Amino acid sequence: MEKCLLCGQHTNNLFNYCHIFGLGNKLLCEKCLILLERVNNGCVKCGKKTKDIICSDCLYWRNYNLTKLFEIVNYSLFYYNDFGKEILRRIKFSGDLKLIYAFKNEIRLFIKKYRFKDITLVPVPIHNERLEERGFNQSLYIAKLFNLPILDVLVKVNNEKQSKKIKAMRMEFNNLFDIKPGVNIENKRVMIVDDIYTTGSTVHQIGRLLYEKKVKEILSFTLFRS
Ligand SMILES: [Zn+2]
Ligand SMILES: [Zn+2]
Repeated sequence: MEKCLLCGQHTNNLFNYCHIFGLGNKLLCEKCLILLERVNNGCVKCGKKTKDIICSDCLYWRNYNLTKLFEIVNYSLFYYNDFGKEILRRIKFSGDLKLIYAFKNEIRLFIKKYRFKDITLVPVPIHNERLEERGFNQSLYIAKLFNLPILDVLVKVNNEKQSKKIKAMRMEFNNLFDIKPGVNIENKRVMIVDDIYTTGSTVHQIGRLLYEKKVKEILSFTLFRS
């Protein structure tokens, strides 16, 4: 009997979403899929819930002197609601790595929908100290679900706890990341992969590094958009 990866319920007798799409891979039960709120009709550049075409965060980055020279389009699958918070908490703080696999089908559908070609994935790193505590970088594992080339070329050089900072401060650059030396990503179409998009500070800091390395295009993917 197959069990839902998120809640442990048997999925056999439940009307199954994956079945409709003919994927035949029952990873989530219907109850859990309903609790996940799909990103829809949000900001065209980042998915944020807004009535505007482009949200205030994106306008900020568009005018900020360190980021106005390049554009990043972000794709997120779900809004960061209470259920999303619970999932990320279990992955990151309880080390429940298998929960990431619950998104495999969603990610495959996403790639099919947008027909991405020649994309190289760049996972957002976590600091080495954090990596030792947790044992894995969740963004790398999310990237592995795509079946696309991955370049794990970034390092986190500063261990500041972003989540504890106020939003206004997170809209500034803190030099949190660097690119490993000797990496050539010139002319590549790059997609930054992370678990959550909050203000866009992380992807724009990384975007700046990628821009300086002369990549052709910068995209971003996260499971959640807060
Ligand atoms: Zn479930
Ligand atoms: Zn936006």
